[in-house]
Amino acid sequence: MLDQATTQRLLSDPDPETVRTLYAEADMVRKNHVGDAVYLRGLIEISNHCRRLCAYCGVNASRRLTRYRLSREEILAAAHTAKQYSYGTVVLQAGEDAALDKEFVTAVVSDIKDATGLAVTLSLGEREPEEYAAWKQAGADRYLLRFETSDPELFARIHPPPPNAQGKSRIEHLQMLRELGYEIGSGVMVGIPGQTWEMLAKDIALFHELNLDMIGIGPYICHPDTEMGHHPERFPPAASGEQVPPDEETTCRTVALARLMQPYANIPATTALSLVNRESGRSHGLARGANIIMPNITPLACRRLYEIYPAKSLSVETAEEVNKQITAQLQQLGRHIGVGPGNSLNRS
Ligand code: SAH
Repeated sequence: MLDQATTQRLLSDPDPETVRTLYAEADMVRKNHVGDAVYLRGLIEISNHCRRLCAYCGVNASRRLTRYRLSREEILAAAHTAKQYSYGTVVLQAGEDAALDKEFVTAVVSDIKDATGLAVTLSLGEREPEEYAAWKQAGADRYLLRFETSDPELFARIHPPPPNAQGKSRIEHLQMLRELGYEIGSGVMVGIPGQTWEMLAKDIALFHELNLDMIGIGPYICHPDTEMGHHPERFPPAASGEQVPPDEETTCRTVALARLMQPYANIPATTALSLVNRESGRSHGLARGANIIMPNITPLACRRLYEIYPAKSLSVETAEEVNKQITAQLQQLGRHIGVGPGNSLNRS
């Protein structure tokens, strides 16, 4: 296991040979632990309503934005699309929307399980323990909740707590989810203003401490119509030489180090990574530790309204087009599409 000083050095070492070695090792560890299969998870953005005021996020409550919430029928139809394209999993993601209540989400999860048998991942923000429990009971398999940064002060600055917060941290939520039997996923944004190399090295250590089943890593992309976009002076960068840049290189190094720290985890080549290098961000992610892709199967009319960062919805291809692209990309990399749910191999 890498110690924190080594992790920190490998994040920023300018020597090209060191970087090549890091990527080669991450690729080998990926191959030896999770193999050459790349699993596809169909992402359904089920609501852009949100009660939170995250300073980085384009669907936060303060924005004037057309809001939508998919119906039970629309969500089920999207799940059928996933099934049709042989994806093994659907990921239901949303803003922290109170109307996606215990009953509604329970019904949706049961619908999907009954009709498709697909693995179901939820990513609905910080919710009540009874809700997590009911959704698990209904058949949900996994929960994604990024801790965004392990630095409590930076996290509080970009992710203000709700007025009546019970004060549970995202880490505590993840522990609760694990106890309920979920596979747990978390992760970070790379290059948040104020994020230092030391903080990012701690984030990577925390991936291992939490024994994450899934690790999502993407560059921070500034959304101009958010608090961080409007008031950059409130989110100052770390001292010169300490600030992590939100670029492809650092994101890939973080992915590679996450693979070395958590060899059996499922790690996606994220959409945000594919946006900072449209040509090869995704392939680079897959060649440097990642083994998952999350094609977006949200109905097109809604997709453009789920703009957590700019240009996210530029990917307007149909699932069929995406599949063609991915198959070609994987062939070039000597990889293949995984069959089945692609469960975490962490505990087996
Ligand atoms: N409401 C859910 C889902 C949020 S969207 C939740 O809070 O967990 C999923 C992820 O997108 C977030 O966890 C965050 O890491 C990422 N994200 C949001 N805004 C972003 C931005 N401006 N740049 C890069 N990633 C962003």
